[in-house]
Amino acid sequence: SVVPTETAGRTVDRMILLAVVVDSAIVLLFLALILLVKRSFSRQQKELEQLAFCDPVTGGRSRAYFTREAVKLLRAAPPGTYALVSMDVEKFKLINDTFGSEMGDKTLKFIHDVIAARLGEGELLARISGDVFKLLLKCGDRAVLERRLGEMAEEINRFNDKLQEKYLLTMAEGVCIVDDPQLDIVTIQGRANEAREAAKRSKPGSVNVCAFYTNDGRSRMLREKEIENRMEAALAAGEFEVYLQPKVELRWNSVAGAEALVRWRDRTRGLLPPSEFIPLFEQNGFIVKVDLYVFEQVCRLLRKWLDEGKKPMPISVNLSRVHLRSLDILAPYDEIRARYDVPPELLEFELTETVAFENAEALRMVLGEFHQRGYRCSLDDFGSGYSSLNMLKDLNIDVIKLDRTFFSDEGENDRGDSVVQSVLELARRLRIQTVCEGVERPRQAEFLRRTSCDMVQGFVFARPMPVADFEELAYSGKPVPMAQTE
Ligand code: C2E
Ligand code: MG
Ligand code: MG
Repeated sequence: SVVPTETAGRTVDRMILLAVVVDSAIVLLFLALILLVKRSFSRQQKELEQLAFCDPVTGGRSRAYFTREAVKLLRAAPPGTYALVSMDVEKFKLINDTFGSEMGDKTLKFIHDVIAARLGEGELLARISGDVFKLLLKCGDRAVLERRLGEMAEEINRFNDKLQEKYLLTMAEGVCIVDDPQLDIVTIQGRANEAREAAKRSKPGSVNVCAFYTNDGRSRMLREKEIENRMEAALAAGEFEVYLQPKVELRWNSVAGAEALVRWRDRTRGLLPPSEFIPLFEQNGFIVKVDLYVFEQVCRLLRKWLDEGKKPMPISVNLSRVHLRSLDILAPYDEIRARYDVPPELLEFELTETVAFENAEALRMVLGEFHQRGYRCSLDDFGSGYSSLNMLKDLNIDVIKLDRTFFSDEGENDRGDSVVQSVLELARRLRIQTVCEGVERPRQAEFLRRTSCDMVQGFVFARPMPVADFEELAYSGKPVPMAQTE
């Protein structure tokens, strides 16, 4: 059939137009769709970022944000520009426990806001977890930095100004000055944390304690780790030795007893004093095993003296505070004593006076149990801390050991003498025996001779010594010579 070109052309034109319109609509629809998806993506992204980079408790930055930004800032700045500070609130748990966690959260936000208001340009702050905050501060001078941190702590405690009953928030900070910006951020934070722990040990009592990281702390940690790895094997291999320090009775200058003091004969480092390992063992609980080991050595020695027909000397052992955490502390001791068949009155347990202060109830129970079995108990380090004379009348204690601080150089004056005299006199009236520890000078020993002091345990007569040396001195029948030099 024949169609006129005009008609056909019109139809084609209409179809092309339709196609163009439909295509454009589809393209537009697609574009709109893509835009929509993108928009919702970016909203989600923002929400996620908000979630990841914001701390819900303080409304400030999160750990993730802090880490990311700190790395950027550290890399971009010359070495030594920044210091990373790890900060926490001492005994924060108490606030949660006493006032509830809502109050705890409010306190954290308050602390955050006070610090945030004191940050300069290019500085960071975030709550990392619990009550731990991290700060990245411009370093400047060390003293300036320390002062800034002190001022923050003071500002935080300003709310107390209006209060009658004050609640001090003690802040502890560890500072790591970042000399090497390439150093891994985790390492830097770890160092700041380590310094913070050191700060807490340094001087409790003020509203702010601060310590700077030094390599020293790091090597100490490594050494401690090494000790922990070796301690069990060392105990099994008999590397712990018992030294005895004589307690000298002043009337005849004769040995009336001894205190057992532990030493560690390390194969590579030689003879280590207790200060090198006992604090660590008290932290990790190993001290319980060491104390029992020392006790067993002492029982074995007393058995030997009894078998040899010697007049046995009473020996005291130290009982770490760690023992008081468990209920049945007496059982393993009693088992050992029975095994060596040693009369309990030859054994004395020394408890340090801080135990009496921290946990008087537990101490009273322990004393009761030990006495029931016939052991003697003494209060060690009396006068070094919080002890009050009042405590003496409430505690059923057989002996007090006056701490060496009574006989230090600073205490050496008439006033010091009369304090010592009063304590000794009070103890005598309460029928408590007295041992004066850490006496180094003949003058002090002569002074004590004129008081009611029962025994002296100090370098003026003898240092702690190996058992064989002690036997020689104690069973020689001669008075113990006194040091001559002042
Ligand atoms: P501590 O129980 O108060 O023991 C007395 C410490 O004073 C001993 O130190 C002793 O050597 C020292 N000392 C005695 N006289 C003098 C003196 O005139 N001048 C001076 N400067 N020091 C004197 P050591 O042996 O280093 O022991 C330190 C502490 O370690 C002990 O204090 C005790 O608390 C703890 N310790 C020692 N052995 C053991 C143990 O087997 N178990 C436990 N739990 N603690 C122990
Ligand atoms: Mg002692
Ligand atoms: Mg002592």
